[in-house]
Formats: sequence, C-alpha cells, structure tokens
Amino acid sequence: MERTDRSRRARPANRQLEPWAGSELPESVVIREVGPRDGLQGEATLSPHARASLVLALVESGIRHVEAVSFVSPKAVPSMARPDEVLAEVGHPEGATITALVPNLKGAQLALDADVDEITVTVAASATYNERNVKMSIEESVESIAAICELAAASGTPVDAVLSCAFGSPYEGDLPAADVADLVGTLRDGGASAITLADTTGMATPRVLSEVLSATGIEVGLHMHETRGTGLLNCYTAMQMGIVRFDSSVGGLGGSPFAAGAAGNVATEDLVALLDDLGVRTGISLERLLRASAVIEELVGHPLASRVAYAGGRLADHDARDTRSSGGAEAGQTLGSRDRADFIGDVTAR
Ligand code: ZN
Repeated sequence: MERTDRSRRARPANRQLEPWAGSELPESVVIREVGPRDGLQGEATLSPHARASLVLALVESGIRHVEAVSFVSPKAVPSMARPDEVLAEVGHPEGATITALVPNLKGAQLALDADVDEITVTVAASATYNERNVKMSIEESVESIAAICELAAASGTPVDAVLSCAFGSPYEGDLPAADVADLVGTLRDGGASAITLADTTGMATPRVLSEVLSATGIEVGLHMHETRGTGLLNCYTAMQMGIVRFDSSVGGLGGSPFAAGAAGNVATEDLVALLDDLGVRTGISLERLLRASAVIEELVGHPLASRVAYAGGRLADHDARDTRSSGGAEAGQTLGSRDRADFIGDVTAR
C-alpha cells in the first residue's frame, strides 16, 4: 500500500489533502478525544485546573468532542476526583460536546447536575471481564444502563453505551459476533442513543473487526487500543467499512502508566496525521494538537506512546519542528519553553 511515487514527497507538512483517489473512505470523521478521562485515569493525579486546561487546549486544536471526566468514587480512582470542578472551568466551549463517564445512577445524577452534554456508560461483552471490572453480571449492567438512559432522557442528554471487550476477551477469547450484536440491540432498546465498540485489551484485527461489524452494522463508534500495534490499521479498515466515529487519546495515553506504549488508546496525533494524509477531514489542527501533547507529556512526566508526537507529520521539517526525542529523559529540557508559555497562556485565559 505504501507508494514510492516521488511526486508525493512534495507535500507540505500537515496540510489537509484532497481525498485519496481510488480509496473508499469517508469524507470526514468525528474524533472523540478520551485522553482527559481514559488517558489520565491511570496517571498520577493532576489538579482539576490542569485537567480543565488540557480539555480546553484540545478543544482549541479543533477537537469537537471530549470525554473530559468521570464521576467515579475518588477513593477508587483518585486521579478522576473533583470532576465538577473540571467541568465548571471548562464550561461549554462553542461547538464542543463535553462528555462524562458514569458508573451508576448516582454518578449519572451528579453528571447531569454538572450540566454535561453527553454521558458515557460501559458494559463488557465479556461476562468475566464485567464481573471483575464492575462486580456485576452483564444483565445487571444492562439494567443499570437502562435506568441511566431513562434519567438522562428527562433532560434530553444523550447516552453513549461503550461496549468493552467487543473484539475479544482476555478471559473468554473470541466472543461470538452474534452475541455482541445482540448486546448492542439490547442496549439500544434500553435507550442508549449511541453505541461504541471498544477494543479494551487490543484484540481486534481487520479480520475480527469485519466479522463483528458485519454482525452489529456500522452505526457504531469505535474505541481502539494500540496494544498489539493494530490500532491504526483497525481504524483504517473500519473507515473502509463506513465507520465515521472514533475515540482516541492524545499522546496515546491510557493503559498502564508503568508501561508507556504497551496498551494505550490509539493516539489522536497518529490518527489525525493519517487522516490528513488520506484527505479525511477531522477539523483538527495537527500542529496545535502537537503543542498540546508536548505540554501533556510534561504534566504526566513520562514519554508518550504516540509516534507522531515525536516525529511530527510525515512531511514535517526536521530542522523547524521542536526537538522532542523519543528517548524521553531529555524531553522536559528540549521542549520549547515559549511554546509552553503560549500554551498555558492560551488555556488559562478563558
Ligand atoms: Zn480506552
């Protein structure tokens, strides 16, 4: 698939291209950024102000949909404490949808009280994973989600049910695609306004993806992880099948904080760089996103998994771009301090 045609090398960096002739790809896709929630939940705790600044910087880069917080017990997940303070500072940026993950009805009420634009809930397609993760059977989770949907419907707040382990489970292995499709139908019947299929432990491949999507239909979003290096490939395959909604995480944050790069979400930078090159519109400026990710790397204090965060877009000018190295240790010193000051200025001004 890699072309070696020399004329293709003459492209300027990071420019939105025309759709790639011959490809059957959507004209545009919606990226929901999950870094502030899925990404940061496994990191050392950041202040609500730092988390709000991150959300605003991501919105500033053109991202129009951000999962910003979760209303979980601060004892269970200290890094997600004080979500209401994050939301109060983020406010309602024009044109942006700000989402909160909730684990139960109580969390949903708190999220609605904080005036979120969208709620996400999760249930695993794997019975064992669901039991271990939330100590409920799949049926109990589905009932709980239906109650949350009913509550949210009263204020017209949409609920996206995220189905984890949709492409396989570390416990049960491959799950029958028909069972996944049945669960999607049950969640829709229960009032979910959208469904997202999550590859929680990175078991999806183009083959598995096409089996599952053939059963569920393409009216779903995808939440891919880069556990085995197939995350971007899966996104590409999914677009060819007509999927137009993707979750991704700035820097590829997510997964174990002690094994950067091992099991994070698909990195937003990597996805945007690919989509720019394919001529698929996202509305996101890769340049601004890279500035945001440089600051995030400092905040989390370890190298990011995103490759594009270090290499830049494929035609990036190596002399002009910042000198972040994938070695990581010097990253803090080599970040342009003016970039950082501009960024903090940008995000604290509102
Ligand atoms: Zn994830």
